[in-house]
Amino acid sequence: MRKGFTLIELLVVIAIIAILAAILFPVFAQARERARMAACLSHGKQLATATLMYIDDNKGRCPSQLPAELIGTKLGTYQGKNFGAQLWSYRIHPGFTQYVKDDKIWICPTRGGNGFYGKRYAFGYLQTWIPFAHVSLPGTDGGWYNAATKTPYTIAELDGKDGRPLTNRVAWFCMVLNMPDSFMPGMQLPFMPHKDGSIYIYMDGHAQFKKTAENSVAPVDYYTGQ
Ligand SMILES: [Zn+2]
Repeated sequence: MRKGFTLIELLVVIAIIAILAAILFPVFAQARERARMAACLSHGKQLATATLMYIDDNKGRCPSQLPAELIGTKLGTYQGKNFGAQLWSYRIHPGFTQYVKDDKIWICPTRGGNGFYGKRYAFGYLQTWIPFAHVSLPGTDGGWYNAATKTPYTIAELDGKDGRPLTNRVAWFCMVLNMPDSFMPGMQLPFMPHKDGSIYIYMDGHAQFKKTAENSVAPVDYYTGQ
């Protein structure tokens, strides 16, 4: 005669399911993050292409930034949300952004960060800080901006500058600045969405994931070699 499951049998089954879930859920989460990183890398590659196209069409000169008085008044939206100054593309000259037709390229698909502002980030990079090139990525490297001439460098000038070839010169990277809309007074340290690394886009047009150096936003090999 058949009888139902005993309590013990039910508990054993539930325990097995719980163990399987505990094993598999982190695996699923990792797979999702890998997919988001792949999408971020794709964004980076499109940004790399756009950068080189712009430079090619402008006699080799890097893009310039919007005049300071316009920065912060250009509001960006993505998926119906207002990103304000957090959408980096609006800090750079429209002459460049016409090469990036889709605003989502500026947004890292990995969500995270601390609190409200941390969730509002865009695909970030050094070069929008052209007048504020103290951001720690390349040390003394002022990005695209030549402080002496007050114009962006040409790509020929950048090639080999400070002993750094285009193949190891970061143009953009995935990062977030946790800051309010009035971003200048509230500027805080960059937040890196991809845990121990970032997507780096180089001036020769390649993009790749690299681990981030300790206490830095630079890729781990940025100061030590090619
Ligand atoms: Zn990213």
